[in-house]
Amino acid sequence: MTLDDLRGLIRTIPDFPKPGILFRDVTTLIGHGAGFAAAVGHLAARAEADGAEVIAGIEARGFIFGAAVAARMGLPFVPVRKPGKLPVPVLAIDYALEYGTDTLEVDPGAVPDGARVIVVDDLIATGGTALAAVELLRRAGGEVIGAHFAIDLPELGGAERLRDAGVRVQALLAYE
Ligand code: 5GP
Repeated sequence: MTLDDLRGLIRTIPDFPKPGILFRDVTTLIGHGAGFAAAVGHLAARAEADGAEVIAGIEARGFIFGAAVAARMGLPFVPVRKPGKLPVPVLAIDYALEYGTDTLEVDPGAVPDGARVIVVDDLIATGGTALAAVELLRRAGGEVIGAHFAIDLPELGGAERLRDAGVRVQALLAYE
């Protein structure tokens, strides 16, 4: 399946979660067996090219893609979680949203010191979520080399912000 075929499997929902937002919905992609397998295959090939040793996924849709990529590559998977979910003392980072803040947490023992980590999520918009995950994984001892996404919204500048932070960015599809 080509990347263009994958584009045809993404559903666009107007006015979700708020009026004026065009939501790119990956539910239809992961609901298509061959399409999901192809997306995971493309992501795994890029993670391998970047020399990944650990795959980290951001809750929740980053778990779907990230865990599948990790299993396909036979690599460890590290969940970057929403607050209050992990049963151990955590490393936490707060980051700004359009309105207010949010928090991500990770088990500080989950990343071997100096391991080459690739962060996976479904989509990058402003990059705030992914940048927070990168910073958190670096504090946990990882060498975060890349952040890979199914979808990039380049006009929102997230990929550029990540590159400024020294992270290689890959996305299967871009939507203007
Ligand atoms: P950012 O922090 O880059 O502004 O937003 C990216 C985060 O919000 C990702 O975790 C992603 O799952 C979610 N997100 C924002 N907009 C969309 C969208 O249009 N579609 C999907 N599937 N996720 C989105």
